[in-house]
Amino acid sequence: MRKTLLAVAIGAAVSLGACSDASKPSNTENSSAKAESSQEATAMNPFFEASPLLYQAPDFDAIELKHFKPAFERGMKEHMEEIEAIATNSEEPMFENTIVAMEKSGAILGRVSSVFYNLSSSHSNDQIRELQAELAPKMAAHGDNISLNPDLFARIKTLYEQRDELELNGEEKRLLEETYKDFVRSGALLNEDEKAQIREINEQLSSLTNEFRDGLMSLTQETVVFVDDKEKLAGLSDSRIESLANAAKSRDKEGQYAIVLTNTTRQSILAELENRELRQQVWEASANRGTGNTETDQNPLVKQLVKLRADKAQLLGYNSWGDYVLETNMAGNPDAAKKMLRDLVPAVVSNVEREAAEIQAAIEADGKDFELKPWDWFYYAEKVRAEKYSLDSDEVKKYFEFNRVLEDGVFYAMGELFGITFEERNDIPVYQEDVKVYEVFDVDGSSLGLFYADYFARDSKRGGAWMSSFRTQSELMNQKPVILNNMNITKAPEGEPTFLSFDEVSTMFHEMGHALHGMFSDVTYPSLAGTSVSRDYVEFPSTFQEDWMLNEKVINNFAKHYETGEQIPQELLDKVLAARNFNQGFDTLEYVAAALLDLEYHTVEPGTEIKDVQAFEKEALERNGVLVEAVPPRYRSTYFAHVFAGGYSAGYYAYMWSEVLAADAFKHMNNNGGLTLENGQAFRKEILSQGNSKDPMQQYIDWRGQEPTVEALLERRGLTDPSID
Ligand SMILES: [Zn+2]
Repeated sequence: MRKTLLAVAIGAAVSLGACSDASKPSNTENSSAKAESSQEATAMNPFFEASPLLYQAPDFDAIELKHFKPAFERGMKEHMEEIEAIATNSEEPMFENTIVAMEKSGAILGRVSSVFYNLSSSHSNDQIRELQAELAPKMAAHGDNISLNPDLFARIKTLYEQRDELELNGEEKRLLEETYKDFVRSGALLNEDEKAQIREINEQLSSLTNEFRDGLMSLTQETVVFVDDKEKLAGLSDSRIESLANAAKSRDKEGQYAIVLTNTTRQSILAELENRELRQQVWEASANRGTGNTETDQNPLVKQLVKLRADKAQLLGYNSWGDYVLETNMAGNPDAAKKMLRDLVPAVVSNVEREAAEIQAAIEADGKDFELKPWDWFYYAEKVRAEKYSLDSDEVKKYFEFNRVLEDGVFYAMGELFGITFEERNDIPVYQEDVKVYEVFDVDGSSLGLFYADYFARDSKRGGAWMSSFRTQSELMNQKPVILNNMNITKAPEGEPTFLSFDEVSTMFHEMGHALHGMFSDVTYPSLAGTSVSRDYVEFPSTFQEDWMLNEKVINNFAKHYETGEQIPQELLDKVLAARNFNQGFDTLEYVAAALLDLEYHTVEPGTEIKDVQAFEKEALERNGVLVEAVPPRYRSTYFAHVFAGGYSAGYYAYMWSEVLAADAFKHMNNNGGLTLENGQAFRKEILSQGNSKDPMQQYIDWRGQEPTVEALLERRGLTDPSID
C-alpha cells in the first residue's frame, strides 16, 4: 500500500506493506510492566549504525528491547534536524537538495521502525505493546511536524510548479508529484487556523480508532458463549469439545464450555453445531456484538469516526472521506469503486439464491420444516458440500505437507516463472527460532535479496497473513530488499509433519506474490519501491500468484502424499477444484456487502450526523441491493475493524478491485503460454519491478495492452452462470 507521508519522508523507509485479510494487532491484556530504562541503552545501540549483516539485515543477536525507545527518540530528533536543514537551506530549491535529500533522511528512524513494527506484529509482548501505545502519538506528531512544515512545503511547491522544466525522468517526476500530493493531502495548503484543526482531528481520529480496537478486545471477553451442558455440543469433535472446556477453565468456569468468537459475523463452529438453539445463540452473539447489548457499546465510536473523517475531508476540500481516500487509489473515486461492486451484485445474488435453495432442500431432507436463517447456513452448507463434493479435507491435507508445499510448490512455481532460486541462510540471526532466512538468487545467478519465512502461529503473533519488509529496495541507497512473509499455520508437534489446508496453500502463494513485488522492485527512490503502491493495486500481484497453485505442472510437483510420495489422485484433485467454487455466492456477497457498507459510511455529506448505526447499516445495504437476511455482511459496523480500527476506511473494496486485475491477468497469461520464463520476465518488467514509479493503470496497460474487465473474476469465482454447477 501507499506509505504514509511519514514513511515517504523517511528515506530508508518502513514498509509494513501488504496484508491479506488480517485482523489488527492484538493488544491483549493491560500490562503494568514498564519498558526498560532507556539511559543505559544509548551507549551501544545497534540501530544507531547500519547493520553489518548482508543487505543490512537486522542483527537480532545484538538487538534488545531496551534499544528501541532510545533509537526512536534519537531517530525522530535526527530526522527532524535533517528536515529542518532541508527546509531552511539557503540554496534555491532543487530536486536534489529537497526531494532527494528527503529520501535520504531518517536513517535511524527507518531502521528502528522497520524492526519494531515487524516485531509488534510477529513476535510481540507486553513491553512492545506498551511502547507502541506510547510511540503512536509521538510518531503521529512527528509526521505532522514534517507535513505541516511551511518552509519545507514552499520548496516542494516551487519544484512542483516547475516540474515540466526540471528535466526530470519519469520516476523523478512521479516522486515529485507524489510528494507534493502527500503534503497537500496532509493539509499543507491550509492556513494556520485550519492546520490546527487538522492536527486536532488527527489526534482525535487516532484515539478513537484505538478506542474502537480496545472495544473489540473487550468484546472478545464479553461475548463468549458459555455452555454448561455437553449434550448441546453435539456435532463437535472430542478435541474441539476439549478445547472449549479448556477455554472455559481459563476463564474460571471449570466444568463449562466456552465458545470464543472470531471477529467476523460468520463463526466456523456454526458449521458443526447440531443444536439449532445454540447456533442461534452463537450467531446472535456474533452479529450483535458491540451494539449495546453488552457492556461495550461501539455505536458512539462509529458515529464519531464517520463524522470526524467527513469533517477532515471537507477541511481539505473534498466532498467526502471516500473522495479523499480514493483520490490516490487506482479507482480514483468512490463512485468507480461502488460501480465495480454493484456490477457484481446481480450475478452474485443469483448465485446466493441458488445456494440458499440447495440449503433449504438440505434442511427439508433432514426432516425439518423451518425456514433458512443465517445461523443455519453453514451447518447445512456442510451437508450440501459433503453430498455434492464428498470431499474429505483431512484426506486432501495429507498431500499438502508444509515443506513440500513451500519448496516444491511455491519456490518451484516462482522458479518456473521467474527463474529464481531460494537458498537457506543459517548464519543470519532471526527474532524467533521458527523463522527461516533465504537468500534469493536471480535467473542469472546474481543475488536479489533476503526472504524471511515466518509461517507458524504462536501466541506472540497477531492473526492473519501478511508481507512486510526490514529494508526496501532502492538504487539511491544502494539497498537490496529484505522481505518477510508471515502466516499462522499450526505447527505439528516435534517430529510430525505439518499439514496445510487448501486455503493455507493458496495463502502461501499469495504472500509470496507480495514478497516478489518487494523482491523484484527496481527503482531509484525508496519511497516508490515495491509494494508502496495504492491499496487497490497492492493485492493484484499477490492474488495473481495464488492461482499457480492449481497449475497442473505445479500441483503435480508438490501435492504428493506425505508418506507414500504418491501424486494427488486426479479424482481427488477434481473434487478439490469443484469444491473451490462451493459457497462462492455467500462468500462474495458477504464481502461485497461489507465493502459497500464501508463506502456508504464514507460518502456521507459533511455534517451528516448518523443517529442510529444499525438503521444506517440496514438502509445502506438495502440501497445497494445486498440486504439478504441469510447472508449478512462479513463485518457489521460495530466490529468492522478494517475500517474503524485500522487503515482500511473507504478501502475495503480494494481486495476485490485487485482481484479483478489478478483474474484478468492470470487468464491472459494462461491464454498466452502460461507458466513460462518469458511470461514471467514480461510481467516482472512491466509490473513487479515498477513499484510506484509509474501510474498503476499505465503499468497494467503496458503489460496487458488494455484495461481489465470483471469477466475473468466471475469465472475465477465460478459465478458466471448460476444454472451451471
Ligand atoms: Zn495480500
